[in-house]
Amino acid sequence: MATAQFNKENLQSSRANHKPRHQESSSVFPKQTAAASESAADKARNGQRWCLNDFEVGKPLGRGKFGSVYLARERSSKYIVAIKVLRKSQLLKAGVEHQLRREIEIQSHLRHRNILRMYGYFYDEKRIYLILEYSPGGELYKRLTSKGTFSEERSATYIRDLALALDYCHSKHVIHRDIKPENLLVGAHNEIKIADFGWSVHAPTSRRNTLCGTLDYLPPEMVEGRDHDEKVDVWSLGVLLYEFLYGSPPFEAEGHTATYRRISRVDLHFPKNPKISDGAKDLIRRLLVKEPSERMALADVSKHPWIKQNALSS
Ligand code: AMP
Repeated sequence: MATAQFNKENLQSSRANHKPRHQESSSVFPKQTAAASESAADKARNGQRWCLNDFEVGKPLGRGKFGSVYLARERSSKYIVAIKVLRKSQLLKAGVEHQLRREIEIQSHLRHRNILRMYGYFYDEKRIYLILEYSPGGELYKRLTSKGTFSEERSATYIRDLALALDYCHSKHVIHRDIKPENLLVGAHNEIKIADFGWSVHAPTSRRNTLCGTLDYLPPEMVEGRDHDEKVDVWSLGVLLYEFLYGSPPFEAEGHTATYRRISRVDLHFPKNPKISDGAKDLIRRLLVKEPSERMALADVSKHPWIKQNALSS
């Protein structure tokens, strides 16, 4: 854990660019005050480590495989965050300490509107606590499941923003490798947020686990066990766009072997219903290309005519 920079300065510096957006939680926590922020700035200069006492812990936001996530307020600044509490015993039992280290190392260094901020971490004898940006819109997966599909406007907006965020990751030599609805959150302004870096075993989904694990979003080179590079994220973006518009991933099949075969052959079909525009299908075809180097460049996604026509300004 020693490698990640997790001191109070991290949270303080993030606050500088932050617009007030905590009205939705005002029933749980009062609004921030200037005096409170100043007192946090004084503390930040000392470079102290966080501890649980620095936070008032509020309602649970959800449960993951290794623990729970709570709404919390930093006492001196009144800054609202989400605290993920992970049990050390469970992490050790599952042998995922390395993945957690990597997640912290990567996520705490990324700064992008569409990437969930990790402000810091601390630990006690039994638990590890991750201090995360609070994402009031919750899980994208739940929204997609309750709506069935997203509109072309909503899908184009999410895909454009994800392409920009992933391009940013790649510029920092970070490959996400696990882009899927379960690993995406929704912010206060309906903006998409990439979460769960390097942590694919952390949030397995009940649906895909019982059916065919997480194979649905994997590209041909990964299911075939070949070398892969950052182009895996481009493929996942294509799978995601298809699922947003049609309500299920493109290569879904009964069991691992059948899914594997469909992915490997790029067995792509567009159902008649719902009726989807040709522009969206064109973008999906450009993302879901077997040869990784021939997949569309992420920087070109926002220039695609269908994105330009449909994405809402952010
Ligand atoms: P996880 O352990 O990351 O799978 O998180 C468990 C659940 O907590 C998620 O499914 C979300 O519903 C919720 N959650 C996790 N992180 C946040 C966050 N930063 N803001 C709001 N809700 C969150």
